[in-house]
Formats: sequence, C-alpha cells, structure tokens
Amino acid sequence: MEKPDAAGRGSTFPVQTRAIVRYGPGMRNFTCACGSTVYFENTSCLNCGRPLGFVPEAGLLTSFDDAPGALESEKLALHPRLNRQSYRYCRNHTESDTCNWMVPSEQPADYCLSCRLNETIPNLDDPRRVQLWYEVEKAKRRTIFTLLALGLPISSKADGPKGLSFKILSDRRLDADVHATDERASTGHLNGTITISLAEADSSLREEMRERLNEGYRTLLGHVRHEMGHYYWFLLIDGRSALTDFRSLFGDERSNYADSLEAHYESGPPADWQRRHVSAYASSHPWEDFAETWAHYMHIIDTLETASDSDLRFQGKALGRPTHDFDPELDLGISNPPTDFSWVLDDWFTLSQGMNLLNRSMGLGDAYPFALSATAQLKLGFIHRLVAAQPPLGH
Ligand SMILES: [Zn+2]
Ligand SMILES: [Zn+2]
Ligand SMILES: [Zn+2]
Repeated sequence: MEKPDAAGRGSTFPVQTRAIVRYGPGMRNFTCACGSTVYFENTSCLNCGRPLGFVPEAGLLTSFDDAPGALESEKLALHPRLNRQSYRYCRNHTESDTCNWMVPSEQPADYCLSCRLNETIPNLDDPRRVQLWYEVEKAKRRTIFTLLALGLPISSKADGPKGLSFKILSDRRLDADVHATDERASTGHLNGTITISLAEADSSLREEMRERLNEGYRTLLGHVRHEMGHYYWFLLIDGRSALTDFRSLFGDERSNYADSLEAHYESGPPADWQRRHVSAYASSHPWEDFAETWAHYMHIIDTLETASDSDLRFQGKALGRPTHDFDPELDLGISNPPTDFSWVLDDWFTLSQGMNLLNRSMGLGDAYPFALSATAQLKLGFIHRLVAAQPPLGH
C-alpha cells in the first residue's frame, strides 16, 4: 500500500452543509463575466483569461477578479448573485491543479467541501498518478454537485460516525514494474468510507475490465455514483423506517454478501435479470441492486437537469427539471407532487433515446445502453421518494 499523503487528510473543519442553498434552475449553464460559455471543470476562461472556480455553497461556477489591497490568493466573485464576495481556491488547486472549487475567504479551511472528504490520496511524486487522481476528483465533484442539487446531506467523517470519507488508492495494475510495492486496490464502500482504485481512472484498464465483465457501460462517474449509493443506503435506510420498503423491493440484504458476490462472479446473473434489475451486476445482492439503481437515478437526474437548463427539446417536447418539485420556495408554477416519478421517467425515455440516436450519428456507442423494466422503474421511484422526503438543507 502506498504511503498516504497528508494533503486532504483528516478534516478538522466541519463541512458546512447548512450554508448550502438549494440549487435553482439554470445551474448547469455557466457564463464568464465576459459572456463566454464556460464549463463546470474549467479553471480559467479561454476568451478573457479570468480565473474560474465553483462555489458549492451557491451552486455557481463564476469568474473572479483580484481583490485590490487583499492577499493575492483572495478573489472577488463576479457572478451577479455572489455580490463580489471574497473566495480563495481550494489548496488542491494551488498545490496540484486538481480542483477548481472555492472556499469562502472568511473560513479557515484549506480544502473545499469535496477535497475535505479525502482521508487518503495517492502519492503525488508521480505525474501519472496526479493525472489519474484528477480524473477521480472530477467525477467526485460532479457527483457531489448533483447530490447537493438534490438537497442531500454531505458531511465528513470528522463531523460524526455517519459522515463520509474517501480513500483514493494507487493500484499495482497500473504499473507494477515501476511501483512494485503497490497493492491491488478494490473500489468499494464500508461504513461511510468509499475506496476508489486509481486503475478505474485509467481508460485502457477500465475498457479492458468493461469487456471482460461484458458490461455496456463503465465510467469513473458511474463508479463514484454507485459507491455513493452504498453510502446513502447506510445513511438513509439502514436501521430506519425505509428499510421495510427497501426489502420488499430489492430483497433482504441480510443474505450473505460475500457468498452472493462469489456466486455472481462464478455463475453469472440469472437469465431473467433484465426483468428485475437495472444491470446484470445489480442481481448479485440487494445492496448492489440499490447502489446500481442509485447510480442510474443520478445519471437520469443530472442529465435531465442539464437538458432542461439548456431548454433542450426532443420530438417537440420540452424536458422537465426533476428537482423543481423538491423545493416549495422555488415558485416555478409546477404542480407535480415531489413523489411523482412517472413524468421524470417519461422525459428520460425521450431524452435517452434522443441521446442514443445522436451518439450513433457520431459513430459512438449508445450513451444510455439500458432498458428499464417495470420493476426497475419501481425501484427508481422508491429512490426518488426517499430523496424527496429528506428535509431541505438548512432546516
Ligand atoms: Zn471570460
Ligand atoms: Zn478541492
Ligand atoms: Zn457496490
């Protein structure tokens, strides 16, 4: 096992979920102060050169100007909704250029809300590992962005026993000839700690695994969302009232986990898995079924929100924004109860079919190579109601 790096480790500053506002509409179309379109991952504007960073408390990517007379690290946010408030970059931006999230200047924390969750990161002496780590952090930030948009709590292990932490580990599959002491790392979740293997950030290794496991879709973002599904099972279902409904839909999670996974890898999924699960792997155990369904739920929400924020229409149909319904304070004239998932699925079928057609026009595989059975749709609906039932952040 490589030496854990001190950077990003052991949060001493509680993650302030209460300062987070519910993200409103238009939160996925970002514009620089100069008017150019910019992206969630950008660190500077290609047109005017201004620095860019994401402010998780507001859900906004914004450009910045230097603050006159202040420290060089302090920057003034130019987004009109941020009132020229002062921020500085996360330490992982200044030290390794792996993060573009911001910390309010008045907060003592060095790391942003996402990087503060790191318990272990790879050894940064090797530039290749820094690049692969950056890919993991990008997927992690995108996942946290959607979780915040859904109003779900993000708290660190330093805040309490139900908090979250990440171990991002190097892996001997990357280059055992160079780093002989590296061990094989397994991506997984245990009691709030998510482990991500850097091997999953290497596109050729990931493609090899995808082919060997006969999967239609394997991405780093999918992995992070899947592991978050295990975490939110632990946070929102384990020992709580939702457990009864969970068991009636997904099965009894008390069946032996190790035996179930071994049987899955030895004998493969049951022939009729598509009638009950979102993916073949989801048939291995109720926990995996939940995590796979959760990842699909996040794919659906994030992609629909992006389409809706861009006023995208398919087959003459405007697409809805699933998190509209969660917030009664956002008076958007939408009357669906937050628990209604049927319109989300209808919009998703329209959008995913359209995306698949577009991808084929570009010679690419389907963006969403899945068919959702009636049972899989019920499981997704369960997750939607579970998320909608969480108290809004700050209450
Ligand atoms: Zn610009
Ligand atoms: Zn950061
Ligand atoms: Zn899993």
